[in-house]
Amino acid sequence: MEFTVNHQALAYLVSAILFILGLKGLTHPSTARRGNFYAMFGMLIAIAATLLSRNVQSYGFIIAGIAGGAVIGTIVALRIQMTAMPQLVAALHSFVGLAAVLVGVGTFLHKQEAGLLNAVLMGEISAGVVIGAITFTGSIIAFGKLQGLLSGAPVKFVGQHQLNAVIALATVALAVYFALTGSLLSLMAVTLLALTLGITLIIPIGGADMPVIISMLNSYSGWAAAATGFTLHNDLLIIVGALVGCSGAILSFIMCKAMNRSIINVVFGGFGSDSGTGDSAGAQAAHKGVKSAAVEDAVYWMEDANRVIIVPGYGMAVAQAQHSLKELMELLEARGVEVKFAIHPVAGRMPGHMNVLLAEADIPYDRVLEMDEINPEFPSTDVVLVVGANDVVNPAAKEDKTSPIYGMPILEAGRARQIYFLKRSMRPGYSGVDNLLFYQDNTSLVFGDAKDTIDGMNAALKGSGH
Ligand code: NDP
Repeated sequence: MEFTVNHQALAYLVSAILFILGLKGLTHPSTARRGNFYAMFGMLIAIAATLLSRNVQSYGFIIAGIAGGAVIGTIVALRIQMTAMPQLVAALHSFVGLAAVLVGVGTFLHKQEAGLLNAVLMGEISAGVVIGAITFTGSIIAFGKLQGLLSGAPVKFVGQHQLNAVIALATVALAVYFALTGSLLSLMAVTLLALTLGITLIIPIGGADMPVIISMLNSYSGWAAAATGFTLHNDLLIIVGALVGCSGAILSFIMCKAMNRSIINVVFGGFGSDSGTGDSAGAQAAHKGVKSAAVEDAVYWMEDANRVIIVPGYGMAVAQAQHSLKELMELLEARGVEVKFAIHPVAGRMPGHMNVLLAEADIPYDRVLEMDEINPEFPSTDVVLVVGANDVVNPAAKEDKTSPIYGMPILEAGRARQIYFLKRSMRPGYSGVDNLLFYQDNTSLVFGDAKDTIDGMNAALKGSGH
């Protein structure tokens, strides 16, 4: 049977529905696996329907591309650490951006040769190239910051916003000029300007705002793909691009709300974010002294507690302490202690990072509470165990107006009776800001790798023979 355009349209429709079901599934940890399966199946149908299209003239390059991509993808997926996931996502976004630029330029050259250029097509090409180029360089800068190749500190200079505005206006003006004239030179100039804009928009974003940027670039990559879909007359690419663009934008909005950042700040490269150096209150606090405690001290308090709240953060992911935490929860619950986990929306290094790890350790969902639900419970909690978290409990976000994290809502761990931090050193968290909670009277630090410390607690609890 011949595979017609109608068959392809039908297959694309099924794929689009599966992608929507996939997104729906990803809205809750219990349905996420099913959601991923729907999306993978949808992608399989989409690729098969595209390969069967009569527009494909030769399979040689396609097979070579798929083989090369599959080998690289498999190696990267097997070797990537969970903690390096945001960098990987940033790198993948940069590929989408680059692909949009290459498709745009390639289509222009091809159609120019065939004499098939028109203003609408050139408008589509310039939209794809501009969004793609911004996504490409912006994602590379985000990758560099997250990987530690570039400093995570915001790069700011006088006249930065004015410069960004001038580049943005020049980009739009040249893109319109290109759409009207079809000049290759102006397309090259637009591409260069948009590549520059990607860099200048992302360098002023500080470490603590990086999660929002990742999801914003995710959204940009979706719009770049949708623009490419218009250029290539591919309906599925338009639908998928729009889904990614919208879901990324919605996630960015939710994260901005969670971090008390304005979405305008993020889109326009830190516009109006009045971050100070962050060391004033922190530096004062450094002279106040910090209490360190032994594993047994924390166990002593937890055993007799009515309620213990565990605040996991990036360090839990580094230490892979989630399974040990599950055991700790069970040991405490067996002694009649109520145990809950408190999740901050930007804990870890990617949205949902903590939820994924706790689910992997089979920690029941009803013990895992989001920030707004758990915050009222801290004042009536006996012990808070902060496991490799730092920024997300730092009161500087509420108390120190000069702090770069000022304004970010936090988990109010400091209101509990006793607070134990499990970390390896006095080093600050991702934002580089000293944690004022270290210096509170009822806070102690238990130094060491989080997994080793929790294993030690579990051993002590088992040995205490209650
Ligand atoms: P932080 O980065 O603030 O703190 C992590 C803590 O873990 C550090 O204090 C570190 O201290 C400790 N740590 C690291 N390794 C270990 C280990 N093996 N054992 C014990 N402790 C360890 O993490 P949070 O989760 O509190 O906050 C997340 C931060 O990351 C926020 O600033 C957020 O904006 C940012 N971010 C979030 C993203 C997201 O999407 N969720 C993406 C990108 C950035 P020490 O070195 O002394 O052990």
